[in-house]
Amino acid sequence: MAIPFFKEMRIGGYLLKQKLLGRKRYPLVLMLEPLFRCNLACVGCGKIDYPDAILNRRMTAQECWDAADECGAPMVAIPGGEPLIHKEIGEIVRGLVERKKFVSLCTNALLLEKKLDLFEPSPYLFFSVHLDGLKDHHDKAVSQKGVFDRAVSAIKAAKARGFTVNVNATIFDGHPAEEIAKFLDLTVELGVGVSMSPGYAYERAPDQEHFLNRTKTKKLFRDVFAMGKGKKWNFMHSGLFLDFLAGNQEYECTPWGMPARNIFGWQKPCYLLGEGYAKTFKELMDTTDWETYGTGKYEKCADCMAHCGYEPTAATAALNNPLKAMWVSLRGIRTSGPMAPEIDMSKQRPAQYIFSAEVQKRLSEIRKDEAAAAAEKAAQKASTAA
Ligand code: SF4
Ligand code: SF4
Repeated sequence: MAIPFFKEMRIGGYLLKQKLLGRKRYPLVLMLEPLFRCNLACVGCGKIDYPDAILNRRMTAQECWDAADECGAPMVAIPGGEPLIHKEIGEIVRGLVERKKFVSLCTNALLLEKKLDLFEPSPYLFFSVHLDGLKDHHDKAVSQKGVFDRAVSAIKAAKARGFTVNVNATIFDGHPAEEIAKFLDLTVELGVGVSMSPGYAYERAPDQEHFLNRTKTKKLFRDVFAMGKGKKWNFMHSGLFLDFLAGNQEYECTPWGMPARNIFGWQKPCYLLGEGYAKTFKELMDTTDWETYGTGKYEKCADCMAHCGYEPTAATAALNNPLKAMWVSLRGIRTSGPMAPEIDMSKQRPAQYIFSAEVQKRLSEIRKDEAAAAAEKAAQKASTAA
């Protein structure tokens, strides 16, 4: 998901307003997952490992709009699953744009060309196409040949129709810096912005061996940025977030900055980590024990440097220290010299494994709902027959 925080003045104004109001915790981007079903099965994906009964569930358009109203964030990113599978996706996006939300529709692009007619170009809408690297690398990451070519063709078609398109890349261990640099050159050729984030080590992803730890992440991004000096790579990130990836800033995450709403409710504590659900956004904010999450506090957060946790931190840091943000953007990202000290990991609490129990709980709720709906339908049929 590309999150161009500083592209739009309105988002800057929103941040300033929260600061003036003295709010400690506020959302910047709603991560809206209207379904978990996908038409790919990427090896690093931690989102699609659910039983069919859950993969078949959808949030309704009204639920999506209610979530956006309830949360109030100026941007809505729609990942998934694959949102273009959702039958009401055109309507969902239209309703969000009508609410003047900046919408980032995240897609693997397999259906994008076919479904472009569902959307209208708007300054509030951009497609964020999943591309993890050059052709061979991407097709391997998504476990299917030909996906890269289809994604590139869809990007060109969408741009030709007047849509704004960005690409988003998840970076894993073993991806050589030179190749990432070539991939970034390609994004310039395609005329698209790019967001990059180290993959979060999802405990349910099929490939557990290629997640980057923090030390490797910083080294890799330094190498990449060093190759980018003088080039016109168009990152959809704030300079301070990129500086953080290069090991020059020590930040704690801001998990409430990008709250996640999906078919289960509001996910605690963040988009990456599902440790329970709240019924309302207010309940999420009021009942999540925020202090117990983050790198150095919780084992599952140890290697996280993902944009959805740290881009909001960088945004707040820029607001609190605009001169520093300006200096980083003028000077560019420092790619040598000492790194900022790493967070102390010695006191982190051990990981809790509650995923299976949560899934069972949700499955029994779904079965209860389905039984109630079937009973109601049978009663209606009986009364019509009588
Ligand atoms: S395209 Fe996205 S949601 Fe689908 S399997 Fe790949 S990473 Fe997961
Ligand atoms: S470090 Fe923060 S953003 Fe990352 S998984 Fe933990 S709580 Fe979520």
